[in-house]
Amino acid sequence: MRIVRFTTGEDPAYGILTGELDRFGQPEEDSVVVALSGDPLYVGIKPLEQEHRLADVRLLAPVLPRSKVVGIGRNYAAHAVELGNDVPEEPIFFIKPNTSVIGPGDPIGYPSQSQEVHYEGELAVVIGRICRDVPAEKATDVIHGYTIANDVTARDLQRKDKGRFSRAKGFDSFCPLGPWIETDLDPHDFAEGRSVQTFLNGDVVQDGSTRDMVFDIPTLIAHVSSVMTLLPGDVILTGTPEGVGPMNIGDEVEVSIAGLGTLTNKVVQR
Ligand code: MG
Repeated sequence: MRIVRFTTGEDPAYGILTGELDRFGQPEEDSVVVALSGDPLYVGIKPLEQEHRLADVRLLAPVLPRSKVVGIGRNYAAHAVELGNDVPEEPIFFIKPNTSVIGPGDPIGYPSQSQEVHYEGELAVVIGRICRDVPAEKATDVIHGYTIANDVTARDLQRKDKGRFSRAKGFDSFCPLGPWIETDLDPHDFAEGRSVQTFLNGDVVQDGSTRDMVFDIPTLIAHVSSVMTLLPGDVILTGTPEGVGPMNIGDEVEVSIAGLGTLTNKVVQR
């Protein structure tokens, strides 16, 4: 099931996106959004007798993390190496503020403090219930679903701040999420390998597979939840494959994950 958050110009609502994806990961033209009563994270799936054509709605970030977005660093060996880092022996993580989240089609603001803003296409895991100390073998129980993220990073500020990521990764709009949450996959599907691709103005710039994660999704959930309680709607970004690079004002960046769709955003002057 694909869960969207959307607006028709009124208050945001949740819905289920019906139909299939085409080979570019885009919904078919006649796709329909069936509206839901309330936030399915808290009240379950309660369809209303209300439908909209997808063309008549604007999709929003499919989840608003109540407390945090947890980013995993260097979780693809080739990406660790491309930035001159060692492959970590245990997961490295950091927090992006929930105020960095934007939705599909929303602009990424290029801040004046940076001259080197990078894309990082990533698989994102959405947590479905309050949990801590989750054993890896129970991780599936706490997953609500999966979406796509761009872990936008001011690379020059990341170097300047010497490994403190809060500024480099924490600007408003530095966490595009969407376009929806897919609930019908599980960690095994990603361990088998799903392609993660990033396109800059239509050219492929990252072409990885979730098979190449250093630490798999259950391990990441176990590790993070052994430190901090995870709440419904918290998001874990699972790391980026190799090929990170700069975006400029006016660029369009798309992140595609097989079976999940495509997240598209443009870069504007902040
Ligand atoms: Mg990242």
